[in-house]
Amino acid sequence: MTTDLLQVEHLTKHYPIRKGVFSRVSAQVHAVDDVSFSIAEGETLGLVGESGCGKSTTGKAILRLTEVTDGAIRWRGERIDALTASEMRRHRRELQAVFQDPYSSLNPRMRAVDIVAEPIRNFESLDGAAIKARVESLFERVGLRADQMVKYPYEFSGGQRQRLGIARALAPNPRLIVCDEPVSALDVSVQAQVINLLMDLQAELGLSYLFIAHDLAVVEHISHRVAVMYLGRIVEITDKRSLFESPQHPYTEALLSAVPVPDPARARKRIILAGDVPSPVNPPAGCRFHTRCPYAEARCKVEVPVMRETAPGHFVACHLRGGEPVVA
Ligand code: SF4
Repeated sequence: MTTDLLQVEHLTKHYPIRKGVFSRVSAQVHAVDDVSFSIAEGETLGLVGESGCGKSTTGKAILRLTEVTDGAIRWRGERIDALTASEMRRHRRELQAVFQDPYSSLNPRMRAVDIVAEPIRNFESLDGAAIKARVESLFERVGLRADQMVKYPYEFSGGQRQRLGIARALAPNPRLIVCDEPVSALDVSVQAQVINLLMDLQAELGLSYLFIAHDLAVVEHISHRVAVMYLGRIVEITDKRSLFESPQHPYTEALLSAVPVPDPARARKRIILAGDVPSPVNPPAGCRFHTRCPYAEARCKVEVPVMRETAPGHFVACHLRGGEPVVA
C-alpha cells in the first residue's frame, strides 16, 4: 500500500430544505461536514457510524452521484468533484459501487447476463462472443454458475444477488469500489462469505475499497484502517488494530463496547449512550457528540474539537486527547 488513489479533502455536503410556494430555503441538512481521508492502492478503509451520520452521502459524493457543497475529491491526483458528466466518463470505469440492497440496485427486468454485460458494453468495444466470455468468467470468479446467467434477479437468493452486484461492479475492471452496507441485508453466515469474496478479489486484483457499515464488527475483518463518523464528521481514524485495541474517542468506545468478543475475559463493559442522534438540520454547537458524551465538559458545548494525531497515524477529534493538531 503506497500510492493514494483517492483523496477526500474537507468534503462538505448540505442539502437545502425548501418551504412555501416560492420554495425558499428554510434550513440545511448538514449531511457531511469537513470530512478528510485518503485511500491507498490495495487498501480498504472502513467507514462506520450510526444510520444518518453521513457515511453513505460521502460514498455518493465520491461516485459523483451527488454534488458536493464544499471541499475537494481527488482521483489519482486530479480533482473530480467539479467535472462534467462527460469529463467524468474517463474515471467512471475505475470507480464502481456495490450497494446494500441488490434487489433494488439490479434491474429486475434484465437477465443476469445483461446486468453484468452492460458496463462492459458501456466502456469497451468488444463483440458479443467476447462479452459473453467475460461475463462467464466474472460469474465463475464471484461463485455463480454459468447456467445462472439467463436468470432474473428475483430468481437468486440474497447472497447470490449480492455476488451478481459484485460481478457487475467488477465488469469494467475498476480500481476502487465503494461498498455501501454490502452485507447488512444478509444472514450472518452469508455476510462472512461475501466479505471473504471481497477480500479474495482484493488480493487477486489489487482493488481498493471504501467499505461503509453501521456495525464495527462487520468492518473489523476486511478493513486496513477505519474512520468513525458521527453526525457528519469523522471523529477518529486510524489503523484497525489501534482502533480496536486502543480507541481514543468516547463515541468509538461506545460503538466498540457493543462488538461481541470471543474471549469472555476480554469482554468490554457495554456503554449505552443516552438519547438519540441529534438532527443533522440543527447539529449541536461545539463537539457534536456532547449531548450524549459521558465525559462532556463545559468547553465541549462551545468549542469544536480539532483533529489531533495522538499517536503515529492515529487521529482523534476530542478535547480530552492531546497530540499535534492536523493542519491541512
Ligand atoms: Fe466528549 Fe468533549 Fe470529547 Fe466531544 S470533545 S467527545 S463531548 S469529551
